[in-house]
Amino acid sequence: VNEKQAEYLDDIISSGNHLLSLINDVLDLSKVEAGQVELVVHPFSLREALERGVVMVRERATEDGVRVAFVADPDVDVVDGDERRIKQVIFNLLSNAVKFTPAGGEVDVSATRVNGEVRVSVADTGPGIALEDRDRIFEEFQQSEMGIGHREGTGLGLALSKRFVELHGGRIWLESELGHGSTFTFALPSGSTTS
Ligand code: ADP
Repeated sequence: VNEKQAEYLDDIISSGNHLLSLINDVLDLSKVEAGQVELVVHPFSLREALERGVVMVRERATEDGVRVAFVADPDVDVVDGDERRIKQVIFNLLSNAVKFTPAGGEVDVSATRVNGEVRVSVADTGPGIALEDRDRIFEEFQQSEMGIGHREGTGLGLALSKRFVELHGGRIWLESELGHGSTFTFALPSGSTTS
């Protein structure tokens, strides 16, 4: 193919991928709502899942001039959970952080063990989220003005992340200062973790 055709093929591939992820998100959400999501729980390395998540967003981050760093406490490694679903949550938080952080910014991923709970935080130096948007962005199809402006998203990622974390008996929350970044944290309860 010539250069122009290669460009068109790239566009077709990325549109196809976008549609596929949209369909998968809608299907996942319908399944959760129908009570049909059964977690496949087994021990897996949360540390590795986080490292892989970072690798998956690194190329885009580098292109966009955003630095991504990862630190984990030495006692954070194997947890009991649904690896595929937890990876979805990690990828969603990381890709949002990279997507909304402007060039020169930073995304810091950390994992700690607090009172037997494992906590994963994704902190960015992006635009932050207004107080009035902080609860509703965890609902289906809800985006802030800025999120709508980005056009890439659908407003389903955080709703799904919340559902998946809660299915594990965990919780997810947001701290943010408008204009100074956001930190999303999810915690998995001690019952679903092993050290
Ligand atoms: P999407 O990213 O597809 O729009 P999400 O459910 O993942 O959907 O996020 C919902 C909205 O929350 C986003 O549209 C955006 O407005 C806001 N948001 C999520 N993550 C961030 C972030 N790291 N910084 C600023 N806003 C964010």
